[in-house]
Amino acid sequence: MITKQVILKKGREKSVKNRHPWLFSGAVSRVEGNPANGDVVDVWNHRARFVARGIYNEKSQIRVRLLTWNPNDPIDEIFWQRRISRAIVGRHHLKQAQDTDAYRLIHSEADGVPGFIADLYGTWVVVQFLSLATEKHRRIILNTLVDLVEPQGIYERSDGDSREKEGLVPVAGPVWGEVPPELIEIVENGHTFLVDVALGHKTGFYLDQRENRQKATKYFAGKEVLNAFAYTGAFSVYAAHAGAARIMNIDSSERVLQLAERNMRRNGFGEREDIYAAADVFEILRAYQENKWKFDVVILDPPKFAHNNRQLKNATAGYKDINLLAMKLLKRGGTLITFSCSGAVSADLFQKVLFGAAVDAGRTVQIIEPLSQGSDHPVLLTCPETAYLKGFVCRVW
Ligand code: SAH
Repeated sequence: MITKQVILKKGREKSVKNRHPWLFSGAVSRVEGNPANGDVVDVWNHRARFVARGIYNEKSQIRVRLLTWNPNDPIDEIFWQRRISRAIVGRHHLKQAQDTDAYRLIHSEADGVPGFIADLYGTWVVVQFLSLATEKHRRIILNTLVDLVEPQGIYERSDGDSREKEGLVPVAGPVWGEVPPELIEIVENGHTFLVDVALGHKTGFYLDQRENRQKATKYFAGKEVLNAFAYTGAFSVYAAHAGAARIMNIDSSERVLQLAERNMRRNGFGEREDIYAAADVFEILRAYQENKWKFDVVILDPPKFAHNNRQLKNATAGYKDINLLAMKLLKRGGTLITFSCSGAVSADLFQKVLFGAAVDAGRTVQIIEPLSQGSDHPVLLTCPETAYLKGFVCRVW
């Protein structure tokens, strides 16, 4: 029997009724039954009617992580098992793919497991518990993954800063089964990549770009390509395979560029005359412009510039700056493949930023292909925040 309730302020029911999974502290009128952080609570409207059920956390601005809107749905082991198996069923098309063995199994809110991520890398799984709600239930979540995925081992990378907002300390390391090797080899659309799950970004690899990398291949044949924010060279491997003449890889981290070179060698592209430059993209694009260097294709896949709405102004200025520079570096009829992974920057806003950049660069720019996050990173309609990656292939005249 649940006897703990969070009662909403009058007029603050709408977002909960619309099934948004975050109940913010500002909407709470009072709390009854003295729930501890991590306890299951029922959410009532101001007339004491059930609206939703979720997990309470006083330490977080998201006071309740809402999990179900059905009063007959208990948050028990079966509940988590169902959510996880549903997410895995939704990746059936990827499991069937012969030439890909790495993809996201569980995408947090979008899969009804708020604050939990599980990525498959071959026979290994890498997880992130980023909310107290899922941290509290980590045993059943991990056991279910073991049963359904049968991995060789599970490694944890719960070291992002979002855990602090939930009152949790960062943790990382092996959590089940065998300890993965330093570099895990995966296959993506037939290309091989080495993934550093312990020290790499996120869980090790930008799986969300898999389908965009494949779509980009048609623009590379015979071209001079600038891969800015290259990370471990994933776009470059696709570009080389598609017959790019020369690829210039830029990243601020020497370490990731070394892995990019290894990935190129691994795919049989070790003999090419590509360039790997550890540099700041903002600075190097300016230097190229001064030297009047030109490229056929520029890829811009920067890290998240806006972590929240307050950073929006600086973020859009940053996006405009690099896109303007990239447009100036392109030959007439060249291709700009540009992304923003900031959730706070909508596709509309990103398009407006590109418009401003095009006008200032004095170039005519056409969008020829819109891009978004891969199908294993679904967007939950009731939680628009789950849409974060957007991009455009542009023709620049
Ligand atoms: N396109 C990559 C992912 C890019 S992630 C892929 O498909 O795998 C963003 C990368 O930008 C990171 O590797 C990070 O080291 C790098 N980075 C961040 N700020 C940078 C800057 N100012 N100049 C150059 N590289 C930067």
